[in-house]
Amino acid sequence: MALVLALAVFLWGLGHVLKMPTSARILMLGLLYIAVLAATIVLPIGHPLREALGGSSMEWLVVGLLAALVWGYAKGLKRLRSYVRPENKAQTANGDSQTELERNARHIVLREIGGPGQKRLKEARVLVIGAGGLGSPALQYLAAAGVGTIGVIDDDVVENSNLQRQVIHTDDSIGLPKVFSAERAMTRQNPFISVRPYNRRLTADIADKLFADYDLILDGTDDVETRYLVNETAVRAGIPLISAAISQWEGQISVFDPSRDAPCYACVFPNPAADGLAPSCAEGGVLGPLPGVIGAMMAVEAIKLIAGTGENLMGRMLIYDALYSETRSIGVKRRSDCRVCSNL
Ligand SMILES: [Zn+2]
Repeated sequence: MALVLALAVFLWGLGHVLKMPTSARILMLGLLYIAVLAATIVLPIGHPLREALGGSSMEWLVVGLLAALVWGYAKGLKRLRSYVRPENKAQTANGDSQTELERNARHIVLREIGGPGQKRLKEARVLVIGAGGLGSPALQYLAAAGVGTIGVIDDDVVENSNLQRQVIHTDDSIGLPKVFSAERAMTRQNPFISVRPYNRRLTADIADKLFADYDLILDGTDDVETRYLVNETAVRAGIPLISAAISQWEGQISVFDPSRDAPCYACVFPNPAADGLAPSCAEGGVLGPLPGVIGAMMAVEAIKLIAGTGENLMGRMLIYDALYSETRSIGVKRRSDCRVCSNL
């Protein structure tokens, strides 16, 4: 039997050296096995070759049966693995598949994020209000960064005039609700995350219940009423709010959280701007890449807050003037008479 085993190992090695495919090498071993089995059956007892092969055909049958079992098991295992979808692979073996580790490798080697920070990103639940200019890059980068659960609420459909700046949507999404167009782009970018699209306007009757499912809110809406509602709900829920706005050539961003002694949105903007002072994108126009700059900053602030690293924009407002290439940061404080957060 040792002789046959040695021959089998030799054939396998020869196949390897000649770079034969595995199936061809298995076929060679199968032929060898059939030849040996036939010899033990055909040759009379006591024949020197039969003795050299190990004697009884029954022993060889058992060997063949065991080999068939191992082969069948390996084949079945391989087939089962091919059924596991990439998003489910993430839940196998210690929570992270090799693919997911490789995908996030550049975060994991960053000292300020590392494995623990990336795990926090995966466990985080972030709600983005608006899938327009600011929402587009924010959603794309949150998805790419591996934020595990991303909610997005918006009641608009994609229009031709959005595409100059709302880069998450494409020409073939025109007419589609923005949240579904965004969901499609995000899950294509990263199948390891879960996206929850809410194709409706954020209203007071659902806000509290919706916010309760999330740890962090990003507000990039251009609707003043919604901005105040988002702020009030986030303050009540005690969760941080990353709020940004853009107009023509200028953008601003800050992080509001009175539960950590930072101001809320209403501390800084107690009253809505008078009509005509804050023109909408449709009225005043907006530079295409500007929401890209500010929306990506929203994603940056979100990642820092979740990973618990660096200095965030709590108590500061960053203003970017694209026309003159200027950035400045101003201090913002809580107001003791704020109608939203003063009684916290
Ligand atoms: Zn306040």
